Amino acid sequence: MASHTASQKYLSTRGGSYDLSFEEVVLKGLASDGGLFIPEDIPSLPADWHDKWKDLSFQELAFEIFSLYISPSEIPPQDLRGIIQRSYSTFRTPQVTPIVTLDSKRNIHLLELFHGPTFAFKDVALQFLGNLFEYFLVRRNEGKTGKEREQLTVIGATSGDTGSAAIYGLRGKKDVSVFITFPYGKVSPIQEAQMTTVTDANVHCLAVQGTFDDCQDIVKSLFADASLNANHRLAAVNSINWARILAQITYYFSSYFSLLRQLSNQSPSDSNPQIAFTVPTGNFGDILAGYFAKRMGLPVAKLLIATNSNDILHRFWQSGRYEKHAVPAPQAEGGIKEDGVQAHEEGVKETLSPAMDILVSSNFERLLWFLAHEIHGAQSSDVKEKRRIAGEKVRSWLNDLKSKDGFAVDDALLKAAKRDFASERVNDEQTIETIREVFCTTGTTGANGNYILDPHSAVGIAASVRQPTSAEQHYISLSTAHPAKFSHAVERALKGQDGFSFEQVLPREFDGMLDAEKRVRKIERRQGSEGVKKVIIEEVEKELRNAH
Ligand SMILES: *Cc1c(COP(=O)(O)O)cnc(C)c1O
Repeated sequence: MASHTASQKYLSTRGGSYDLSFEEVVLKGLASDGGLFIPEDIPSLPADWHDKWKDLSFQELAFEIFSLYISPSEIPPQDLRGIIQRSYSTFRTPQVTPIVTLDSKRNIHLLELFHGPTFAFKDVALQFLGNLFEYFLVRRNEGKTGKEREQLTVIGATSGDTGSAAIYGLRGKKDVSVFITFPYGKVSPIQEAQMTTVTDANVHCLAVQGTFDDCQDIVKSLFADASLNANHRLAAVNSINWARILAQITYYFSSYFSLLRQLSNQSPSDSNPQIAFTVPTGNFGDILAGYFAKRMGLPVAKLLIATNSNDILHRFWQSGRYEKHAVPAPQAEGGIKEDGVQAHEEGVKETLSPAMDILVSSNFERLLWFLAHEIHGAQSSDVKEKRRIAGEKVRSWLNDLKSKDGFAVDDALLKAAKRDFASERVNDEQTIETIREVFCTTGTTGANGNYILDPHSAVGIAASVRQPTSAEQHYISLSTAHPAKFSHAVERALKGQDGFSFEQVLPREFDGMLDAEKRVRKIERRQGSEGVKKVIIEEVEKELRNAH
């Protein structure tokens, strides 16, 4: 593995660009060949990492990890520390991402990632990304005035979590404007209020008449719009931005050390815990950070992918085929239809864990590159040729995904994927059952008594409890949202249970939010992407006038 002192460079998974800097990949988001950015090499941990890092705070760990991916010539260490401090000072707990033990017999622990401003795990990455954007823009604009100045125009579409986390990450940031489109009337009231009650001048919520897909289409056409690109520096905050993956690596390390500390307090002699992570997965961004942690050298026994009924990843790990639609099961003699037939005709399924409702997982492409590099790149001993082969493979797979709705990989590659990952699929019924069971079995007293899971976290726990148990085996299951954000599923699971009242779950930050002042513009269907473009041009000009 590469030494971590050399300057870190980035490339595109589809082989179209090489030698990019961290700043370039963060500001661009997506490579011009349609690929995603990855570091040329995954840095390995310093030899003394365990001793040196074991008692560090979350922020200090973030600094050590980020320093392996960002050259000091790009962001001087003092500046990087400042960005990290600002990003995590908005969290409501000093540990930032604490762990709690849910089941001490089965060794199941929950990593709570929802203590940021919008009560979902995306804050961990987007608080950092917002500060990075501001840092780069302010630096580029030093000494510039008027039309010379660059303004970053962030455009995104959301069906819920990403929008509010992006808005809280970018509110009030200098030289950055943010435009978030969401389908009018189709986002939960709390999620909508979380976005529209942010009244900073640089935040613009656009309620689009239509569906989430309509919003995504609008955003896509804006990114492809030549005149808009000529006059604006457009940026995206969706989960393909490399800085988001990087930021998420920290909590794999911090929770690993937290658990070790907790275990050694309980029984100092208990020597060799095996730690696996379970991750409720949609776009594969969260768990990909776990893969980087493991490849860097964190001793992770397994990464367990937990999907809902949108199970393209689960099917891949079963079959080696990555296909948008489940292939119909072979018809039994006599022509009895199997479930798969219906699934074949469907698009995304609506589930109780909507942040994981996806047809394909965009970040999976990054894992594919590393697997292709390992398996197919082995044909060559030349560093550059290995990379070229990997990029070529990924490009042809992704072409097949587009033109034929899927592709298959070699057995050797699937075997390599299974070495690091396993997968489970959890349906809505099992999700509800898990919320209820955890509420009841955590007892009624103590800090974690009557613990209430949100439906996404419940998918993770349902997958974790299916795994084999032993005294050494521990599962850290990631909790990606606060239950108050998904009241519908929680009410359905717990209504009528002794000791349950939803009011107790509601954080006080949500008090009065539904009635607070709102700032939102409605976009009629007939206005479409041209209407959104007009709003963007108008608002950015207004901000520039007011700022200078
Ligand atoms: C985004 C999200 C997920 C899925 O994370 P990926 O990185 O897309 O796999 C899971 N749970 C919640 C609450 C989310 O907001």
